[in-house]
Amino acid sequence: MRDFSADHRWLSINTATLRGAGKLDAIIEACARHDIRAISPWRDQVAAIGLERTAALVREHGLALSGYCRGGMFPAVDAAGRQAALDDNRRAVDEAKLLDAACLVLVVGGLPGALVGAALTRDIAGAREQVRDGIAATLDYAREVGMPLAIEPLHPMYAADRACINTLEQALDVCDALDPQRSGALGVAVDVYHVWWDPKLEAQIARAGKARLLAFHVCDWLAKTRDLLEDRGMMGDGVIEIAKIRAWVEAAGFAGYSEVEIFSSLDWWKRPVDEVLATCIARHRSAV
Ligand code: ZN
Repeated sequence: MRDFSADHRWLSINTATLRGAGKLDAIIEACARHDIRAISPWRDQVAAIGLERTAALVREHGLALSGYCRGGMFPAVDAAGRQAALDDNRRAVDEAKLLDAACLVLVVGGLPGALVGAALTRDIAGAREQVRDGIAATLDYAREVGMPLAIEPLHPMYAADRACINTLEQALDVCDALDPQRSGALGVAVDVYHVWWDPKLEAQIARAGKARLLAFHVCDWLAKTRDLLEDRGMMGDGVIEIAKIRAWVEAAGFAGYSEVEIFSSLDWWKRPVDEVLATCIARHRSAV
């Protein structure tokens, strides 16, 4: 297992962690000030300053992209909705390619309508079928372009509205069905926030292996979580055995960035950006 205690060369910042710090250009400048070598930006943040300008800033600062967030959200109530999702995923693949991201992260979607507060169906098995079909269609295009797709299983509390793939096992079953040759074109993003509780986690990480482990996201689970989406903890402040999980992914062959992804409207988004980044760096060394 790599020693992170002496430097932060393997730290990546998911730019959602700095949503309190303004636009993406300011976020990138802040990361550069702290000698951060990699980021993972969100599409809305990129769109707000423009794709070309983002690409120029990334080049100027010599940044790597540990991922690009995000594609997915495949299920819809009708064919037109499903096609719109596929078109949007194609655009996300193109953007990820232009920015030279390591992978496009997929948050696959749940029950149509649920994200805006009114689920139009209760058919979760049907949603999962649509997800599989949506990934299959997107994978055909992503293979042509050469952009790996990383399915991110989300904690089951998001099964209705954000992702009906909720365990690493489920995600890997989809990978095995659609990419049995383990080509590297399809894999998973392991986010400790979503999977830390899973009794099968160690075994499923081993099953994933190097070919399927495309991204590793860290933050912490606060035992008294106040908000199910925007109260993620800083590494070391919660109950996740982060270093143990990192040891598992590295034993399986993962050698990429540890990407800090903290949605925290209640705490970290309110703090000065330099304090957030200094804390991320310190905790990357001591708690990851
Ligand atoms: Zn994540």
